[in-house]
Amino acid sequence: MHTDSIIINDLEIYANHGVLSEETALGQKFLISATMYTDTTKAGLSDSIEDSVNYADVCQFITKYLTENTFKLLEAAAENLATQILLAYPLISKIDVEIKKPWAPIGLPLNCVSVKITRGWHIAYIALGSNMGDKEKYLNDAITMINDDDMCIVNKVSSFIITPPYGYTEQDDFLNGAIKIQTLYSPKMLLSFLQEIEKKANRVRQIHWGPRTLDLDILLYDNLICDDDTLTIPHPELHKRDFVLIPLREISPNCVHPLLNKRINELITEIS
Ligand code: ATP
Ligand code: CA
Ligand code: CA
Repeated sequence: MHTDSIIINDLEIYANHGVLSEETALGQKFLISATMYTDTTKAGLSDSIEDSVNYADVCQFITKYLTENTFKLLEAAAENLATQILLAYPLISKIDVEIKKPWAPIGLPLNCVSVKITRGWHIAYIALGSNMGDKEKYLNDAITMINDDDMCIVNKVSSFIITPPYGYTEQDDFLNGAIKIQTLYSPKMLLSFLQEIEKKANRVRQIHWGPRTLDLDILLYDNLICDDDTLTIPHPELHKRDFVLIPLREISPNCVHPLLNKRINELITEIS
């Protein structure tokens, strides 16, 4: 993640965001600040605006976006604005957005209220598997659907390998692969997005580890370690499964398992 930043401080706009009817009818002043994380080295050496994020341009973008769209909540305004800036300016890897509402109308002498959020691109690795129907088509269609989504860009795709079934062995061989993506989704949002794609492939959840048209698992998400009822990252079986490690090694042999602190290459040596 970049440590350099370009900062916009208190850009004034007049807009109609708010919950109260007088706010949406009359409008009011908002102050927008943004810290845009980007590598400024190239622009620093070339002294050319083409190599950087043009802050004048971003200010126009913010003004246009927040006057043409109306939100009830500052949270929603900030969330959507951050996403739109990250999509429009690929040199920005991460952004802090703060929206201030001076003299928010609460009937008390409040100077200012604000919402500040941080959003950015994340790197995730996804495992793909299928053992029903046209397996190759299920995997390729899933990759296309992921890449077609605004919030995801597929960076690398492994070869697909044929593997005998595991767990419940009375079923057809699997076709397995892995991809590297960059995404604006949080881990939870990424999981629901992938489950939507599984549903579109007519995936029916019957037997655990049973036959399926499409299985999409999140293997890694940045260096994140998490475990709750619906999501465990890194995927708990990742280091034990050659059908996951082999495609992963092909696209990223040196990526590190954050919990075991080992490279994919090393994990493969351990199970073979
Ligand atoms: P396995 O997880 O051992 O590969 P599976 O893929 O067959 O088994 P599913 O029925 O597809 O299991 O998923 C069961 C649940 O696992 C999902 O509903 C999801 O909430 C949860 N889950 C936990 N961690 C992850 C992860 N990293 N990626 C995908 N699903 C996960
Ligand atoms: Ca799985
Ligand atoms: Ca799964």
